[in-house]
Amino acid sequence: MSLSEITSRISAVEAAAGRTVGSVKLIAVSKVQPNERVEAVLEEGHRCFGENRVQEAIGKWPDFSDKYQDLDLHLIGPLQTNKARQAMELFNSIHSVDRPKLANTIARLAQEIGNCPDLFVQINTGEEEQKAGVMPKDADAFVAECKALDLPVKGLMCIPPVEEEASLHFALLAKIAARNGLEGLSMGMSSDFEKAIALGATHVRVGSAIFGARVKPEE
Ligand SMILES: *Cc1c(COP(=O)(O)O)cnc(C)c1O
Repeated sequence: MSLSEITSRISAVEAAAGRTVGSVKLIAVSKVQPNERVEAVLEEGHRCFGENRVQEAIGKWPDFSDKYQDLDLHLIGPLQTNKARQAMELFNSIHSVDRPKLANTIARLAQEIGNCPDLFVQINTGEEEQKAGVMPKDADAFVAECKALDLPVKGLMCIPPVEEEASLHFALLAKIAARNGLEGLSMGMSSDFEKAIALGATHVRVGSAIFGARVKPEE
């Protein structure tokens, strides 16, 4: 699929769901994609991208930012505290805040740097052992903890279990966000972004549908 095809599909669901057309942010997930593919999407005028790994992003985006202005970069993968500073200096948003130690580190660095990216708390809606994210039952307390640290929490993020109906997870995420007064919902990927938008996604993270299958394995 092309970028324009994805954006027109997004507009169609926005309209059908009675939402403002153009209000959902499309994060083009460029992890492990060859630079030519990323550059082609930049050349089409797209500026919002998502990366999984701080190191990989640092190897790629400072160069692109010399040539393309107004980049809007989102970290969507797990963040180790020892990479937090680099992440905060590169990314405009971090979608993977998921534990007190990381929240505290970000709060301390935000004071030092004098700036903080927009933050999303990752919720492990499927309660999967191997997956990052706060358990749904701990979500309210953790969001409150982040707010008490004055962190700019804009919303919640989830990655549904592959074998389950994603809509159930999107609905759960929306419910947790609503009761915590959060507007941002980072949910929906290549296979289910339309469902996510219908259920209120404000940010969709779409990789392979834009760039094609990832050439290198992720791990
Ligand atoms: C890789 C990734 C995506 C994009 O996945 P696609 O299925 O290629 O659209 C979205 N979100 C996260 C957290 C990812 O790691």
